[in-house]
Amino acid sequence: MAMRPLEDRYGRVATDLRVSLTDRCNLRCNYCMPAEGLDWLPDDKVLTDDEVVRLIGIGVEHLGIREVRFTGGEPLVRRGLVGIVERTRALDPDLELSITTNALGLARTADKLASAGLDRVNVSLDTVRADTFHTITRRDRFHDVVAGLEAAQAAGLGPVKVNAVLLRGTNDDQAGELLAWCLERGYELRFIEQMPLDAQHGWSRTGMVTAEEIFERLARDFVLTPAAEPRGSAPAELFTVDGGPGTVGVIASVTRPFCGDCDRVRLTADGQVRNCLFAREESDLRLALRAGASDEEIADRWVVAMRGKLAGHGIDDPAFLQPDRPMSAIGG
Ligand code: SAM
Repeated sequence: MAMRPLEDRYGRVATDLRVSLTDRCNLRCNYCMPAEGLDWLPDDKVLTDDEVVRLIGIGVEHLGIREVRFTGGEPLVRRGLVGIVERTRALDPDLELSITTNALGLARTADKLASAGLDRVNVSLDTVRADTFHTITRRDRFHDVVAGLEAAQAAGLGPVKVNAVLLRGTNDDQAGELLAWCLERGYELRFIEQMPLDAQHGWSRTGMVTAEEIFERLARDFVLTPAAEPRGSAPAELFTVDGGPGTVGVIASVTRPFCGDCDRVRLTADGQVRNCLFAREESDLRLALRAGASDEEIADRWVVAMRGKLAGHGIDDPAFLQPDRPMSAIGG
């Protein structure tokens, strides 16, 4: 089968695959899901390890995927994670392989993940105060995250990136201390604007903390200079801090969308291709796979799914509708 790029109608080519390995999570971040959790996917709908690896293989070997990021839910709660990483690495030694995680349990698995061929980790951490951590995540696990970060760095899973969401009235006054904490430890911090992807549908444009406000707050303590390197398809606008070498990024998905440069495609834990975080339609690869479709037939479906990618996420459109699935079920 010839290599076919995952190109959409606007000429964008997806080469970065985000694979959700589970919709389950061991934290309950209040801007993501309710305290009681969600109706998790039934086990028989979740792709098996073999199915996940087969779909990634089709993406890598036939559709030009160059980067795979495992996410969730919480990918570290997926039992077969290390094996999936190992088998994905075996597909191609040059593939960029990373994981987005809350880092609970990473202290135990960082070495195994590195040996299996993982390149990097992105750790989600919205505060460096244990009490605020508990308020946001409804769990008392701040020190486990710190241990996970340290283990990732020691295992060579770097550069270690930290992703943070600022929430008005909870941690929006902590941007500076979070950055100082990350700089001290050599972690690359990225602030992400809160998006309308929460299970509770509580997001509001006026309630979210904007990139503009984040810059204002950081400017009180630091001098930020736009980084010299071209941004390309990276979601983060990057700045050097106080002349460098430390940097900070801001991912302004809502107020400064970067859809025109998007090179991402998503695979949910139940085998649905999504051409955008905010897509309202999915393409069912699990059904095809379990009906005995060939690699070529699955690749065909995937190519067609990408043709339907919209020009932009449309959050500012008055007709915008939040996707049915929340971030935790799509894969953040
Ligand atoms: N459990 C993993 C983790 O914590 O990184 C992976 C999944 S989690 C959904 C991925 C990222 O999405 C986290 O950094 C989280 O802060 C972020 N996130 C969740 N809901 C969000 C929202 N409504 N807007 C922006 N980011 C969100």
